[in-house]
Amino acid sequence: MKVQLLPSSVDKNGAASARQHLTCFVIDDAVTIDAGSLAMACSDEQFENIRDIVLTHAHLDHIAGLPLFIDDLFAKLTEPVRVHATREMIEVLERDIFNWSVYPRFSELSNDNGPVMRYVPYEIGCEFGVRDLIIKPLAVNHLVPAAGFIISNDSSKIAITGDTSAMDDFWEVVNREDDLSALLVECAFPNHLCELADISHHLTPLKLAAELAKFDKHDCPVYVINLKPAYRETIIEEIDEMVNNGLEILKVGKVYEW
Ligand SMILES: [Zn+2]
Repeated sequence: MKVQLLPSSVDKNGAASARQHLTCFVIDDAVTIDAGSLAMACSDEQFENIRDIVLTHAHLDHIAGLPLFIDDLFAKLTEPVRVHATREMIEVLERDIFNWSVYPRFSELSNDNGPVMRYVPYEIGCEFGVRDLIIKPLAVNHLVPAAGFIISNDSSKIAITGDTSAMDDFWEVVNREDDLSALLVECAFPNHLCELADISHHLTPLKLAAELAKFDKHDCPVYVINLKPAYRETIIEEIDEMVNNGLEILKVGKVYEW
């Protein structure tokens, strides 16, 4: 399975930077988890191939590129862009984004070939297929309705938390999975902002350590994602200080093969 976290910012030379403002993971160049920087940072090949977007939740940093992606593709689509989300997330998108004020309601629009966007609702706990992937959505603990996923293809299986704070059910399900190739887990804030992390339902390095104590798969590589760019260096220092943690920060732009 190929997984790439798309870049969402540039350095002083205009090259992709490690600072992650937006979240969009491209899997096997065909399906994305979230769409934060989708329109802005995907390759030409990905632009041509991606027609399925699976959302963890509807916060702006996870959907910002979605309206722009459909806009860019509008005239050339020969099939709709399919947005896989829960009913609650779809309601938010229709009410707050695709509402004719912020952006057109693409779910009601067609080009010469037919509709340009279609919602495909999923339910927490119910597996669904997308292209060559099987995706199992799991409840996580975020400020708004949100999901984590176990994602499998023919060759491998990964788990991703999306945005979350402390949780138990997610770990119980993930611990039952065999052959997990990687776990991607969030850590948005540094330790001194633990109150803010609690209020916004995110993790700090200390809270992350408590979560990983619930994770049984000790041989499974763990990658940290969704670091708030303003605190990136501090979070990385605090994670590095955790003894024998074996954690890696997922590199922005790098194509991982699991
Ligand atoms: Zn969020």
